[in-house]
Amino acid sequence: MELISRPGWIEVICGPMFAGKSEELIRRINRLEYAKKKTLVFKPGIDNRYSADEVVSHSNLKAKSISIKESKEILDYVDSSTFAIAVDEVQFLDKEIIYIAQRLALKGIRVILGGLDTDFRGEPFPITASLMTVAEDVLKLTAICVVCGAPATKTQRIINGKPAHYSDPIIKVGASEAYEPRCRHCHQVTK
Ligand code: ZN
Repeated sequence: MELISRPGWIEVICGPMFAGKSEELIRRINRLEYAKKKTLVFKPGIDNRYSADEVVSHSNLKAKSISIKESKEILDYVDSSTFAIAVDEVQFLDKEIIYIAQRLALKGIRVILGGLDTDFRGEPFPITASLMTVAEDVLKLTAICVVCGAPATKTQRIINGKPAHYSDPIIKVGASEAYEPRCRHCHQVTK
């Protein structure tokens, strides 16, 4: 990454829950802000687990953000003074983000995208998967499996104390269910 000298590229930070994705995103935003590089931070309106106008990590790091419903809203905020944009929970955006990210990168903007690469069933989130293919830099973070301690690449979803069923809907933002990081071997999805 440090070898790229011409501005305008795409970075993806992905992995399961509890891998520190938001923390890494916020770390990159803070470095840019410290250098006085104008950075716009966005998050899909669907994710209000902690705060409506901030990206917040599980360790309580924060960055001011703009909530958007559709990817194209990003273009309303970007102008010639924008140095970088960052998006958290990018897997929840519409597929337009794949084109918008590339368009902005071509204009010389640094595009930083964080999100889950797979859903609770272990299947790819198509948006994140596509963004990984067009990115210059992909950081795949792992968590620690809560069952065996191995590197965790999957998000285990637990409903009423049991592994979620394969046919349970993927997107259900709310606190009544539990999620935990697990490795390939300990990840369970009932069929
Ligand atoms: Zn395990």
